[in-house]
Amino acid sequence: MTDKKPSIPFLDLKKINKSYKQKSNAIFSSFLDSGIYIKGNSVEKFENAFATFCGVKYCIGTGNGLDALTLILKGYVELGKINIGDEVIVAANTYIATILSVIHAGLKPILIEPNEETFNIGIDHIKKSISPRTKVILPTHLYGQLAPMKDINALAKEKGFLVISDAAQAHGAKDKHGNTSGSLCDASAFSFYPTKNLGALGDGGAITTNNEDLAEIVRSLGNYGTSSKYENEYIGFNSRLDEIQAAFLFEKLLHLDGDNIKRRNIAKLYISCIKNDKIKLPSWDGSDAHVFHLFVVRVKNRKHFCDYLTNSGIGYLIHYPIPPHRQKALAEFSYYCLPITERIHEEVISIPLNIGLKDSEIEEIIKTLNDY
Ligand SMILES: *Cc1c(COP(=O)(O)O)cnc(C)c1O
Repeated sequence: MTDKKPSIPFLDLKKINKSYKQKSNAIFSSFLDSGIYIKGNSVEKFENAFATFCGVKYCIGTGNGLDALTLILKGYVELGKINIGDEVIVAANTYIATILSVIHAGLKPILIEPNEETFNIGIDHIKKSISPRTKVILPTHLYGQLAPMKDINALAKEKGFLVISDAAQAHGAKDKHGNTSGSLCDASAFSFYPTKNLGALGDGGAITTNNEDLAEIVRSLGNYGTSSKYENEYIGFNSRLDEIQAAFLFEKLLHLDGDNIKRRNIAKLYISCIKNDKIKLPSWDGSDAHVFHLFVVRVKNRKHFCDYLTNSGIGYLIHYPIPPHRQKALAEFSYYCLPITERIHEEVISIPLNIGLKDSEIEEIIKTLNDY
């Protein structure tokens, strides 16, 4: 492989955030002058706006997406809805954060194979992994596409399970009734890591829910477990959304639906124009259920394809090269036999799809993939 800098980078955040330069300068100036840098008006304003955007009663800002997931699970433990050691069904091919949150909350992740077409977990594999200790189904809306929530919720209702979603890649994805990723189950976790569809200028996250008890407890847990100032009810954490990030996210949220439409339009072009038997395109029903956080294709000989992209000046990333159960940190799960997951991790590669791409760059990417 050469070290040539790609002429079309995988993602140019500088370019994307440049359109917020004037706004950001104004935000920073009033932030600095306010003298309140944590837990001020901007966080509350953003939380209200994001709750409205998601169509839920409550939004609670957190320090990041991993904490959002962990706090939801810990919150349900504190509420007595789940007990330490209970089982949580998660996708084996998710980003490792989903699985780490379960472990951090003292629960046991049960890894299951995804559907090979959608990369998301499906009802058949979920049913097969239910045990007497199952308490939670935790689907990830992977790469920006909603997991089959209707089926998952129906099963959970029948069995009395909680459903918590990892929506870190799916801000604004909507089901066919127009309900968004933040409103489709008991509670959802978001990340505002800079590369996400709604990305901050640093770390950030949020929890959305309609459950008042959960909302109250996660807010407390993220703020040292305080009930009122200097009174601590729980063994809490420090995980709060920053004022400055919240103010920036508020501005960006105004553009999220439009940005997601742009992403879908690029995906439509890729899907209709890339015609190459050696490259398997992602499956999508054309609906708003996908916000294309990533455009993930599959190839048999990935090393060869990566070299080709590098030589063609096109950036790429792999989401993800090593499945969680093959990570050293999760060695206790290495006994799992997950052939679909392992095949996916060997074959997937993400090509550039973001709102910073120019038409000419989109054309070049299509041409390069067709010429492979
Ligand atoms: C980014 C991401 C997270 C973690 O978010 P952080 O803000 O980096 O902690 C969790 N799950 C998924 C699927 C993600 O993509």
